Amino acid sequence: MCVQFWCPLPCNYLAASMHYCMAANTISPAYTSLRCSECGYTDKKNRESQALFHCLSCGSIRITQT
Ligand SMILES: [Zn+2]
Repeated sequence: MCVQFWCPLPCNYLAASMHYCMAANTISPAYTSLRCSECGYTDKKNRESQALFHCLSCGSIRITQT
């Protein structure tokens, strides 16, 4: 999905786009932690604290051990 978003061409730019993808994931790991795994809703308010995720869309609660 990430590769397709970055590059519509499947061949020459694939390696570069994958590098971009990995870099983006490395830089902003917090983004994925803000995304509800149940419904996909993403909001920084979903994360009430470092250890508690509470989705404002579907109400899903997830405890995160760090
Ligand atoms: Zn949710």
